[in-house]
Amino acid sequence: MTTAIIGGGVAGVAAAIAAAERGERVLVLERNRKPLKKLGVTGNGRGNVLNSGLPVYFGGERFARAALARVGYPELCTFFTSLGVPLRQEAEGRMYPAALQASVVTEALLLRAAQRNVTFVLNTRAQSIERAGDGFVIRAVQADPLPETGAPRKAAVPAAERPINLQADRVIVTVGGAASPAQGTDGTGYGLLTAFGHSVTPLKPALCALLTDKRRLAGLSGQRVRAGLTLYNANGVQLRQTEGEVLFGDDAVSGIAAMQLARFYEAGASLALDFRPAIGQDGAAPPQLCAFLQSLADLRRDRIVGDWLTGAFAPPVARLILSEAGLWEPKRELVRLTSADVERAAVTVAGLRLPVLGTRGFEQAQVTAGGICTEDFDPETMQSLLCPGLYAAGEVLDVDGDCGGFNLMFAFSSGLLAGRGPNGR
Ligand SMILES: Cc1cc2nc3c(=O)[nH]c(=O)nc-3n(C[C@H](O)[C@H](O)[C@H](O)COP(=O)(O)OP(=O)(O)OC[C@H]3O[C@@H](n4cnc5c(N)ncnc54)[C@H](O)[C@@H]3O)c2cc1C
Repeated sequence: MTTAIIGGGVAGVAAAIAAAERGERVLVLERNRKPLKKLGVTGNGRGNVLNSGLPVYFGGERFARAALARVGYPELCTFFTSLGVPLRQEAEGRMYPAALQASVVTEALLLRAAQRNVTFVLNTRAQSIERAGDGFVIRAVQADPLPETGAPRKAAVPAAERPINLQADRVIVTVGGAASPAQGTDGTGYGLLTAFGHSVTPLKPALCALLTDKRRLAGLSGQRVRAGLTLYNANGVQLRQTEGEVLFGDDAVSGIAAMQLARFYEAGASLALDFRPAIGQDGAAPPQLCAFLQSLADLRRDRIVGDWLTGAFAPPVARLILSEAGLWEPKRELVRLTSADVERAAVTVAGLRLPVLGTRGFEQAQVTAGGICTEDFDPETMQSLLCPGLYAAGEVLDVDGDCGGFNLMFAFSSGLLAGRGPNGR
């Protein structure tokens, strides 16, 4: 039995190992020069590979839960142990390789694949899959490898590509999604599955920064502040809430809490930032918050508005809050502050509104929301319900998870399930 796996990312290599352990002959087609390119950049190079907490998935959420009920956190920990990769837990259930380097996971996976005689066909991009008798033919193009070192190929000289055909008894499609095209995932792989009648749900960049009005963020780039975030649609309906550290950029709000809102973005959306957590006033009611802000003003009655929030917020954040509240008169004496001014400042601290003009897009997104509809796959085996012998796993499917290891966890889980084949063993 020959199994062809299209896409040598996490789901593909996990599937390859599982299939080879069943005694199948396994070929992995990967368009990059090396497999597992993306894994190396995950978790800021540290590889947040799993999460020990409650699963948080969107899109085919039930499908993801069903897959994880079969190969879930405990079994994935055992898989890492079997690879010789000890794990360590950090905040919020995030699991990393103990070495805190994603590269050790890459190396351990490739070593296991080599031990099981998995063949990698690199620089090879699958273009189509066709039924051929009981099996499949994969039509692909193979490019000449670029030199490992030395000058890059001149743009005027295109890489030579030659067509190749491969035959397989079963095919597992693990081409990833449309996010982060620099890693080989540009959304062109969906066609491999739609050719068999599978459908694609709407695609959106997920886990990326939210773009806002550049002028409102002047001087804030690089500032970090703890905040509660709420995304509203154009009609003021709440779309999603998160809390955590916010990182301001030149024209965008980033940091995990903001990035987790990207998949919920709609045209005309706005973002409310609640800064009460940054000043130890989490959930404080307006009178309590006003009393706190008034107490800060009382401490420096001899000073000016520019000094009001010193010690509570970094100066650029204090300025943003007071500007947005219409109170940025830095030379005004604090003794002249009225209770109405304090109330306006309190309203802004608890809910500063910024327009959301879009998201950073697939180029910068970590994950794709949407993908191949999961309803046409068996979550226990990842086999297509439309075409026996055809499987899919990982991000190519309509499953995306929150930050924290959930996306790699689904890639590992679904990849192992697909590799195990029709009987799930
Ligand atoms: C910067 C960044 C940081 C991230 N950090 C984390 C994190 O810490 N934790 C977490 O859980 N998730 C993280 N993610 C998300 C996670 O990496 C992905 O969800 C996961 O890698 C998906 O696995 P996959 O195997 O489905 O797809 P991928 O890992 O994307 O692999 C797909 C592979 O298929 C290949 N391919 C595509 N088309 C073809 C074709 N036609 N023919 C041949 N090969 C093809 C691609 O080159 C690629 O190697 C991060 C993503 C990014 C971009």
